[in-house]
Amino acid sequence: MTGITLHAPFAGWLGPLDEVPDPVFAERMMGDGFAIDPTEGVLRAPADGVVVSVPTSAHAITLRLDNDADILLHIGLETVALGGRGFSSLVTPGERVSRGQPLIEFDLDKVARDAKDLITPVVAASGGSVRVINPGRLVAAGDPVAEVASSGASDTTAVAIEASRVITVLAPHGLHARPAARIVQLLTPFAATVTLAHEDKQANARSIVALLALGAAQGAQIHVAASGTDAIAALDALERFASERFGDSGEGLPSPPLARSGSVCAVPGIAIGHVRQFRAATINVAEQGAGMEAEVVALQNAIRATGASLGTDDLAQAHRTILNDPDLNGLASRLIADGKSAGWAWRTATEQASASLRETGDIFLAERVADLEDIASQLLGRLTGRSVGVPVIEPNTILVAHDLLPSQFQALDLANLAGICTAAGGPTAHVAVLAAAAGIPMLVAAGPDVLGLADGDPAILDAENCRLTVNPDTAALGAASAVIASRREARTGALRAAQQPCTTADGTRIEVFANLGSVDDAAAAVRAGAEGCGLLRTEFLFLDRADAPTEAEQQALYAAIATTLDDRPLIVRTLDIGGDKPVPYLPSRPEENPALGQRGVRLSLARPDLLETQLRAILAAVPGAQCRIMLPMISDVGEVDAVRAVLDRAMLAVGRTELVQLGVMVETPAAAMIADQLAARVDFLSIGTNDLTQYALAADRGNAAVASMVDALHPAVLRLIARTVEGAGRYGCWVGVCGSLGSDPRAAPLLVGLGITELSAVPAIVPEVKAAVRAITMSAARALAQRALAATSAAEVRALLEEQS
Ligand code: PEP
Ligand code: MG
Repeated sequence: MTGITLHAPFAGWLGPLDEVPDPVFAERMMGDGFAIDPTEGVLRAPADGVVVSVPTSAHAITLRLDNDADILLHIGLETVALGGRGFSSLVTPGERVSRGQPLIEFDLDKVARDAKDLITPVVAASGGSVRVINPGRLVAAGDPVAEVASSGASDTTAVAIEASRVITVLAPHGLHARPAARIVQLLTPFAATVTLAHEDKQANARSIVALLALGAAQGAQIHVAASGTDAIAALDALERFASERFGDSGEGLPSPPLARSGSVCAVPGIAIGHVRQFRAATINVAEQGAGMEAEVVALQNAIRATGASLGTDDLAQAHRTILNDPDLNGLASRLIADGKSAGWAWRTATEQASASLRETGDIFLAERVADLEDIASQLLGRLTGRSVGVPVIEPNTILVAHDLLPSQFQALDLANLAGICTAAGGPTAHVAVLAAAAGIPMLVAAGPDVLGLADGDPAILDAENCRLTVNPDTAALGAASAVIASRREARTGALRAAQQPCTTADGTRIEVFANLGSVDDAAAAVRAGAEGCGLLRTEFLFLDRADAPTEAEQQALYAAIATTLDDRPLIVRTLDIGGDKPVPYLPSRPEENPALGQRGVRLSLARPDLLETQLRAILAAVPGAQCRIMLPMISDVGEVDAVRAVLDRAMLAVGRTELVQLGVMVETPAAAMIADQLAARVDFLSIGTNDLTQYALAADRGNAAVASMVDALHPAVLRLIARTVEGAGRYGCWVGVCGSLGSDPRAAPLLVGLGITELSAVPAIVPEVKAAVRAITMSAARALAQRALAATSAAEVRALLEEQS
């Protein structure tokens, strides 16, 4: 069934929705429809249906028609504020009503006096189009005024076709999130209403959550029904797509829980402690809303902002589809119309969806519950301005999570955190950078079975041999404690000498700097003996905020870090966002390959206003020779020249005349290959081994499936480093390393042997890096570098390093 005629719920002036003086309705945020300005005080059913909800204030009602379209009738504007005064409901939820039956009585004069407006929007809250019949006229109660299709149909005047097929699910993991998201996408161009039925369950094919709740495994027979003018075309497309296994080869999916994938060491170290599972915790939201209009706008804004903050990979696309899901949104809208807050409505809607996924008993779908919860908590975080709650961290906690966001990590109580193990993630994702800075051992890409470990289980996290051992025996505990004790001893020795300048055993000066993201990091770096800052990641100042920091805010932060470092050099990297660091207030078009897209200096050159503001803030905040500026993601000398022009303008603007050192990061193979040309233009080069590795080896640094490939000790990466040093040397330009390899004390002799003269490590590791440099001679380091360059694998290089230490 498709089109249903709606009859005027009361006598009055019939107009288009656009005339409602409230953008929530006029811009169709609640759905398509029409408006009536009533001349009588009884609201009647516009068609046969069932009452879905009536708020206690009885100023609105939602009916579900027989074609499943939900119609919201909202008497007047902002009438929720009347708290029910002047309204009385004549029906209750669940009741079946017939066309013309009185639903709500209201005091026309009182409501006209006390409310913002009496105009009454009537909208299809579940989506779908509404065709208004001759708007701009006076109508009597019961006159036909519109035709409404159920969600998805758009042309109810054309001949509606009903057709059905049976398709078999061939996709290896059934109708899981990716195929479901693709079905939703596939049907976008079609107007037909498409319903899938499996066993006793039915789903709107445009709702990812409804599709998932079908619980259709490989081999399931699905009955697909479509109605509308293009029903046949929609069915054809769907059938074809089903025969192509919904485009799903099954590759790249998480392994089933018992097939454990190999963990990857992201931050070296060993910890003994107890497992504590981290799942995005509940954010409290008030049940009652502040008025329908305000709540709808808040929800729409939160959905938009959350959508914009998601990436462009398959999972992010599936998350975006969840955000725009018509069933979820329809239910949330109805709850808001009942007077609930946006947060409460969204949470209730997602909880209902999660419950139906759980009911399927399917392990893959259980993982989708995590997606729903994740996206719900992100959205609630945006709505409430609160970050997602984090668990209480008891002493010696080994935190286990699906993945962690940098913001979640930053909210943890680090003092008691012994280690982290994530089921997903990659070793150089930004949360790993933060964990390294805090000196917290971390395993990533451990596979989904770690999510099944019980809270409180004793465990050893060995982030050197990539193992998480649960319920270890006494021998394993004894061995781990012995390693931890000997590390502690070595660390005590390193700490004792941490404040001394650093040279190799035969006297070659190597500067050991620290990577920073905050003033606290700067203080920690000074305490740890860092001789300067080799990389200030300014983007941490820009992430997780609603708007860009002002010039004054930036200046204050840079000045505070400069002061904390005393006169030590401070290398401030200009904004490196884009890629895996999207920023909600800088709307960017979704990119198919964000890592190869407009990130780092490319974004800065596309937004010279932001760049110039940042450069002025740096120049004004960091005095004299302490100030060095570094550009991320360089791949062409033209980029350096372009930034130089902006820098000149910024210098003029702040009245600074003394020269400021400018350097570039070598993060792309291109930059390594043109190191000589870059060195001719700048004062220093610093190798970002995280990105250089991902680009050299074509392995995404955040993708768990290739995490073990992202190894900076790969000979290809080492040869690029050697090439950089050689090119830079022609212009007497020094080369440092500020990527994660610089924070690995075992790699320090190799890097020094390759000709690196500055190592920038996370503050906690600075003493150990210094100790490692002091232990070698230049001739031994060079010999080691030569052997490593000739090695045929990262494993071989690692074995050479072990031999050396
Ligand atoms: C790098 O790529 O090695 C680097 C230091 O930059 P980031 O990790 O911030 O991308
Ligand atoms: Mg980088």
